[in-house]
Amino acid sequence: MDRRTLLTLLAVGAAQALTSCSGEPATPRPSAAGGPRPIAAPVPAPGRTIGNPASVPHVGPTTQPAIPPIPPAQPGSPSVVFGAPAPTRRIAITIDDGYSPETVAGYVEFARRSAIPITFAPNGAYRAIWDRHADTLRPLIEAGQVQIANHTWTHLNLLGRPDDAIRADIDRNEEWIEQTFGITSRPWFRPPYGAHNAHVDALVGELGFTRILLWNGSFGDSTLISPEQLMELARRYLQPGTIMIGHANHQTILGLFDQIQQLIADRKLEPVTLDTMFQTSRAVG
Ligand SMILES: [Zn+2]
Repeated sequence: MDRRTLLTLLAVGAAQALTSCSGEPATPRPSAAGGPRPIAAPVPAPGRTIGNPASVPHVGPTTQPAIPPIPPAQPGSPSVVFGAPAPTRRIAITIDDGYSPETVAGYVEFARRSAIPITFAPNGAYRAIWDRHADTLRPLIEAGQVQIANHTWTHLNLLGRPDDAIRADIDRNEEWIEQTFGITSRPWFRPPYGAHNAHVDALVGELGFTRILLWNGSFGDSTLISPEQLMELARRYLQPGTIMIGHANHQTILGLFDQIQQLIADRKLEPVTLDTMFQTSRAVG
């Protein structure tokens, strides 16, 4: 292990100690969206293509001019991603979950007014909160400013779950993302709690999720923290090459967007989506 790899791992360890939805319940909060719903549809076979554009109600010739048709899944051997390829001034801001309506609304408005690229990794279990913002997000998605990654529907820890349950959880979230935002989340998958292993990685790779999205910086807001704590973490981790993780779960961030935007500008950082950072493409999946 070289020094850079070691430092990266240490940074990730520190970040994981601070975050990764670590304070979240193992299941979605019932107040947010009524809790996880039973899987109604048959469990798809691995590698099955979801979301034939013809079957996606929001994707029609009059409403979806800019996003290419959703491509079939491209199964493959996944790679685990912590940070940007160096050297770079780029950062990627990635925002997970979404069980606070006010915080989701705040992030969507921040993306709209700041034009800062953001990758959201929402859980469909909170679709009642996210769906109301689809009309605002779709133009940003079409413009390539906003990207959507898959974080499962239920946010359950995948380790030890049956393979069919894992596939169904991810497929259901993908189907919701396609229908709601007109985009595939492939090939980006963020495991809940950052919990993954070789078996999970191989399984999600079969579904076309060939980039396992971890992080090397965190706002630390998977649990409720103070504005001072959050800004301290922002100053610590918003550095060139960071994949920053945050959560649309608590309102602390709402009063800090201007400071964070200023910090990014002062440090001459270049926020980008994961597609931009890694040359992945929604046209390819
Ligand atoms: Zn999460």
